[in-house]
Amino acid sequence: KKIIIVGGVAGGSTAAARLRRLDEEAEIILLEKGAYISFANCGLPYYIGETIQDRNKLLVQTAEGMSARYNMHVRTSSEVTAIDRTAKSITVKNLDTGEIYQESYDDLILSPGARPVVPPIQGVKDAEALFTLRNIPDTDRIKDYIDNHHPKHAVVVGGGFIGLEMAENLTERGLDVTIIEMSSQVMGPIDYEMASIIHSHLTDKGVQLILNDGVQAFENNGSKVVTSNGLEIDTDMILLSIGVRPENELAKNAGLSIGDRGGIQVNSQLETSDPHIYAIGDAIEVNDYTNRQPAMVPLAWPANRQGRITADNIYGKTTTYKGTLGTSIAKVFDYTVAATGNNEKTLKQLDIPYEVVHVHPSSHAGYYPGAESIALKLIFDKETGSIYGAQAIGKVGADKRIDVIATAMKGRMTVMDLPDLELAYAPPYSSAKDPVNMAGYTAS
Ligand code: FAD
Repeated sequence: KKIIIVGGVAGGSTAAARLRRLDEEAEIILLEKGAYISFANCGLPYYIGETIQDRNKLLVQTAEGMSARYNMHVRTSSEVTAIDRTAKSITVKNLDTGEIYQESYDDLILSPGARPVVPPIQGVKDAEALFTLRNIPDTDRIKDYIDNHHPKHAVVVGGGFIGLEMAENLTERGLDVTIIEMSSQVMGPIDYEMASIIHSHLTDKGVQLILNDGVQAFENNGSKVVTSNGLEIDTDMILLSIGVRPENELAKNAGLSIGDRGGIQVNSQLETSDPHIYAIGDAIEVNDYTNRQPAMVPLAWPANRQGRITADNIYGKTTTYKGTLGTSIAKVFDYTVAATGNNEKTLKQLDIPYEVVHVHPSSHAGYYPGAESIALKLIFDKETGSIYGAQAIGKVGADKRIDVIATAMKGRMTVMDLPDLELAYAPPYSSAKDPVNMAGYTAS
């Protein structure tokens, strides 16, 4: 068997490694247009902020290392530019030499990811210190700029995960940061009243937060940002973090079926509309695990899980991808913000009736030092007790509570089951009634 994988980072390298474990003989070719494979995208903001100091630590696996360890062909600077589905072959361009060649396949896996959205805002092309963050070269550019130009102020456009992580890390580097967010809140996956906790925390940490406003123009080569509400902000650098768009061009040009949101459509085996082509990761449309609607969820767990499932499916193990819960987490200065499943905004849009409980238990026994309150929100169906989603914010222990609830959701447990979860307890870690139990008692 000859299997080609397009994209060598989260989904692609997971699929490649699993394929090799399943078949020692297969010819596996991993093609990556960038200079690096298998790097830690999620760690990039922390290298810029210097919490992670050694750049090499971001490079989880090198092309040489992966080729040798798994006995496969790993080619960087290799962009796949076309798929000929009839001939079952692809066109590859070597970006270093300009050489163009064809490569045939039995099965093809697409894991091309998603790229940052750069809207055609006035002045965007002339802005000199304007950055987006996706990969190692982007990271090097931002870090070099900070190291060499010593900017004093940054504008972060977009208050999602990457925007907030960068706001924190830029603050760590001594910059004053202004976040401009078009909606009424930061962090889309949580609801407004939860986000409000983060709004005040950002302000406490010296971040200037501008909500309900967007960028209208970048003036003076990007040294002035003008907002739709008429604010003018002088700045030394700009980070655009307003979301990502699936890299769907290759699939689109090959006539594969694409969803309304631009994601490559796949079935539960992760096959595209061509049974010899699979697609995974940020580039695909998934089903929301909770409401079964099509969704785009650009997160690392789905990409990794899908990479493994695809390899299994190519070898006849028929594993099904069950949908994406969207369990997510971020550190925002002293707080952890975590969420799973659907929020109220989504349920309202879909006209699904729901009930909400809020509890504020301590992360662990109050008499043991370091206990902090957790704001825990549980959203569920009042009739059946079925859990739609949960959100948690706290300085300690929010991560574990959301992970427990995400597990309960995958196990199809109801809110009535939550008091019955027997969770680990000793005073430094929890209470005899864990916050998840408390939420369950309150809801049922
Ligand atoms: P990627 O990992 O982006 O890999 C796709 C690769 O395909 C790219 O390297 C691209 O160059 C290559 N490619 C594209 N087209 C072609 C082509 N035609 N030919 C050859 N190669 C091609 N997720 C979390 O869950 N938690 C986090 O904390 C988190 N933090 C993040 C922080 C940052 C700064 C970023 C950028 C992302 C973060 N993510 C996080 C998201 C996570 O990294 C992605 O969901 C995940 O990497 C998606 O995997 P993928 O394989 O679909 O795409």
